[in-house]
Amino acid sequence: MAREKNEMTQALLPKEKTSHEEEDPYISCSFRNTVLFAIVMLGGLLYLQAMSTSECSLSISLVAPAFGYESQEVAETPEPEIPEPEEPAQDFCAPKGLVGPLAIDFDMDKLEERFQELSESNKDFFENGEHTPENCQVQKLKNIAIIIPFRDMTKDLFRTKQFLYFLYYMIPILHRQNNHFSVYLVNQVHDDSPFNRAKLLNIGFEIAKKDGFDCFFFHDVDLVPENDQNIYECFDNPRHYSGFIDKFNYNLPYNSIFGGITAYSAEAFDKINGYSNEYWGWGGEDDDLERRTIAGAKYKLLRPEAGKSHYKMIKHGHETSNKPNPNRQKLLKAWNNHAKFDGLNSLNYELIERSNDLFFKNITVDLKYSERIPLEKLLGG
Ligand code: UDP
Ligand code: MN
Repeated sequence: MAREKNEMTQALLPKEKTSHEEEDPYISCSFRNTVLFAIVMLGGLLYLQAMSTSECSLSISLVAPAFGYESQEVAETPEPEIPEPEEPAQDFCAPKGLVGPLAIDFDMDKLEERFQELSESNKDFFENGEHTPENCQVQKLKNIAIIIPFRDMTKDLFRTKQFLYFLYYMIPILHRQNNHFSVYLVNQVHDDSPFNRAKLLNIGFEIAKKDGFDCFFFHDVDLVPENDQNIYECFDNPRHYSGFIDKFNYNLPYNSIFGGITAYSAEAFDKINGYSNEYWGWGGEDDDLERRTIAGAKYKLLRPEAGKSHYKMIKHGHETSNKPNPNRQKLLKAWNNHAKFDGLNSLNYELIERSNDLFFKNITVDLKYSERIPLEKLLGG
């Protein structure tokens, strides 16, 4: 880890934009030779003689204005001018102050104090649960909604504590990554229906898309990146982010695993009709999403670079309100039958409450368990 840290810190040194980089002297030379050739063709034999003895050491900034090229000046080989350092171009938002590998722990005794620290140090970067970078242009696929499926019916509020820890680590990371983002906490109302992770994620997508976001992270509450070079952003092809978790010794438990965290552009998520809404209880919905994405829509199975996308998971048991779904295998087998009519195009729910906190947007929904699609129809019987 120590060795890796050095390399990663090095890699973080701010890279100058290409336009600021010193020009290759050979390019300068050949460019200048072209100009010279033109001069020769115009009968400037004298100039040619002068040039052939001078060293080709001018920077492109002196040579480039070819039209104003004064042969006398070249013949005199003036002192190379040191170009004025330009203001860094702010046409797009680049990460600022990334630190590489991070020490993550979930010491619950320190949670309150740490969250207080977070609030003090980061409050000025947020408004209405939204982080907007200053003085730069956010690229389309870096308008990021982080959508968290959530319901805390535990007595000790363990999921809520996980969420606070999630914010404690994620907010500074995403702030350094310097994009426009908002965390959407999508709460399933407290009733006796089974938990439905996928449907909550579809709802978060629909709401955040209407709010103007272009990139969607479907993100479990208990996963925290261990390196801030694990950049949160979308591409045209969706990506599975959480392939390498401490719980599985940072190995893929199986190659097509797609749970935990996935990232989609709006176009890609619309194309696959989102998640299935009909996985009630634990398991299967993530593999179903993988089938829709890879076998169905023919996207590639992509993940960020393994070395930089390690995650730490907060250890937890499974809630009694989130028992393994007994139908999950049947539903998964029939994924291609129900993908067409079960997803974003059949999303029904009631919005119970919506508010903005400092660091996140808080949404509570009723998932209408009694109005679900009958199992026989989903299975194609
Ligand atoms: N979750 C929740 N309340 C629950 C069950 C699950 O908020 O009662 C959310 C939470 O974001 C969690 C995700 O659903 O990270 C996936 O559930 P879980 O962590 O139990 O799944 P596993 O770790 O087995 O993949
Ligand atoms: Mn979990």
